[in-house]
Amino acid sequence: MSKIQMKTPLVEMDGDEMTRIIWKMIKDELLTPFIDLKTEYYDLGLPERDKTNDKVTYDASYAAKKYGVAVKCATITPNAQRVEEYNLKEMWKSPNGTIRAILDGTVFRAPIIIDSIKPVVKNWKKPITIARHAYGDVYKATEYRVPEKGKAELVFTGENGASFRETIYDFECPGVIQGQYNKDSSIRSFAHSCFKYAIDTKQDLWFSTKDTISKKYDHTFKDIFAEIYESDYKSEFEKLGIEYFYTLIDDAVARVIRSEGGYIWAVKNYDGDVMSDMISTAFGSLAMMTSVLVSPDGNYEYEAAHGTVTRHYYRYLKGEETSTNPMATIYAWTGALRKRGELDNLPELSGFADKLEEACIDTLSEGIMTKDLVNLAEGIEAKPVNTSEFIKAIRERLEKKL
Ligand code: NAP
Ligand code: MG
Repeated sequence: MSKIQMKTPLVEMDGDEMTRIIWKMIKDELLTPFIDLKTEYYDLGLPERDKTNDKVTYDASYAAKKYGVAVKCATITPNAQRVEEYNLKEMWKSPNGTIRAILDGTVFRAPIIIDSIKPVVKNWKKPITIARHAYGDVYKATEYRVPEKGKAELVFTGENGASFRETIYDFECPGVIQGQYNKDSSIRSFAHSCFKYAIDTKQDLWFSTKDTISKKYDHTFKDIFAEIYESDYKSEFEKLGIEYFYTLIDDAVARVIRSEGGYIWAVKNYDGDVMSDMISTAFGSLAMMTSVLVSPDGNYEYEAAHGTVTRHYYRYLKGEETSTNPMATIYAWTGALRKRGELDNLPELSGFADKLEEACIDTLSEGIMTKDLVNLAEGIEAKPVNTSEFIKAIRERLEKKL
């Protein structure tokens, strides 16, 4: 059998710990035997980031911007403990933060669904994709602990003379204040990424904020989305028969719980932080959450939503067997290969991605699972296997499909 050919390379960002081990297994067992895999390789593993003073992360991000499709392994975001563990020159910034800042994207997270793992919400049948605006608001807020009686004011001084001053509260006792901001440019990028991704995946787009209470701040989000939808995306949505609709976040929460799933739910930064954990837990396992960063000008970076699974890695280093779930990392690859296939007009490549995903689902449906899933599975006899056995089982099923 001749290998499937590629035109443009994928930007490959390698990572750390257990996911780095799994990364290589996936390439060796599931990809290179079947595809003439073309990648531009960047090692985002912590030792290489330290060695290059994090230049490799910047190079990889610009490559993603140049080629348009990247696939990323989970990476360590260093903290004080990691600085010691890896003897780092500096506490390097989060690679995901750097990539996001350069691509200016929105992160979409969706669960991989299988029949034998029932969501906690029993009417959910299709994935719910959360789009989180990962910029500003409470994450960039200025806070002050008010120590005594006094007046808090909101003041703006414009460069061209605009000015604003209003009392926030006349404190009669100690308290707290917080100043948040966001930028039209960032909200616009967020909106473009959401509309583009809805079109890409042919799903409805829901957007919700608290605009009834936040009449300027949240209302601006609502207005910008409405304006961009009307001017740039409405006709494409109508052609595809998909819908954009805005609703108050309280109403959205109630609708989400009553829904069957199968749409994108776009939310502000804090809502996305909280709701994505709620949605992923309710669907089953963090190891089954996929993640893609979509930039407003149409660049894609695919990854798993989970981290480097450190606890499993330490066991692996001791020579112990691990049963780490590679599903979300495999889906990062299939997402990237499918997108590359679409952009380069290579149906065989996109078809391979579909078949690999089917092989994964078949394997799980037969009860061959990593340990994290075994306890969640219902209605089948589940057999726990280690990571390498799981990947080999997928390969057997994939080979039959090719
Ligand atoms: P984590 O790596 O996601 O793992 C947390 C726990 O979730 C694991 O200990 C494991 O539970 C379970 N788990 C996660 N993924 C799994 C999988 N594929 N298969 C089976 N079980 C899985 O989060 P963390 O321990 O908080 O973070 C570890 C490192 O990852 C940190 O250095 C952090 O900076 C980094 N991180 C990177 C990214 C990214 O690159 N996008 C995201 C998050 C965290 P059990 O141990 O109970 O089996
Ligand atoms: Mg969170």
